[in-house]
Amino acid sequence: MSRTPLMAGNWKMNLDHIEATHLVQKLDWSLQDAKHDYGSVEVAVCPPFTDIRTVQSLVDGDKMSIKYGAQDLSVHDSGAYTGEISGAFLAKLGCTYVIVGHSERREYHDESDAVVADKLIAAYRYGLTPIFCCGEGLEVRKAGNQVAHVLDQVRAGLSQLTPEQVRSVVIAYEPIWAIGTGEVATPEDAQEVCGAIRGELAELYSGDTADGIRILYGGSVKSGNIAAIMAGPDVDGALVGGASLDAPEFAAICRYQS
Ligand code: PEP
Repeated sequence: MSRTPLMAGNWKMNLDHIEATHLVQKLDWSLQDAKHDYGSVEVAVCPPFTDIRTVQSLVDGDKMSIKYGAQDLSVHDSGAYTGEISGAFLAKLGCTYVIVGHSERREYHDESDAVVADKLIAAYRYGLTPIFCCGEGLEVRKAGNQVAHVLDQVRAGLSQLTPEQVRSVVIAYEPIWAIGTGEVATPEDAQEVCGAIRGELAELYSGDTADGIRILYGGSVKSGNIAAIMAGPDVDGALVGGASLDAPEFAAICRYQS
């Protein structure tokens, strides 16, 4: 089955709404200006919450093909949860995607596998497609337990979803030791874990379901290393942090085939 590659930019806590305008415009130009076709690749940005309305206006107004999403959502739908943002609000702003379970949320906000599972359910309540992050820390990697560790996270995260919901989830394998460090996993490392995730999905659901699910790699992706990473048969795109803040660089990642 052919899967449309997805390149998703995670801006993290960078860029206010004015800067977001500049970046999205520049990204759109960089993608349009490209001599080479990126048409078969889906491009998305995940800005801070405060930028989403601005990004929506730009994308809708200029009929851009760029999609957008949020970096997190609440497990709750509404009510007395100061500071939280519900999936309902994100859906109202036209978000396609929401990142769930990023390692920085797990580490700095104590998000357990159970919370991540609740957030995945919350995303589906509002028709959002979750980009569900998993990945091992350096100690786990050094001990050679990365596959077992990631598969535990995957099983726990997906545990509350229906098989129908699972079919549209996007999974992002992000080894924590490669995030923001400049230390990229080798293409073989990325393929090993992405392939194991797909194998597990086939066991848990069906071969058909596993074949249709997009599995991204994330961790210090740049225009210079993306083509080699994408050569892995089970790698269907990338979740890109730092490099997504530079429009020409992110556009070059999106055009990895050319
Ligand atoms: C990320 O935060 O999801 C990420 C992959 O960051 P970077 O590309 O900067 O390593």
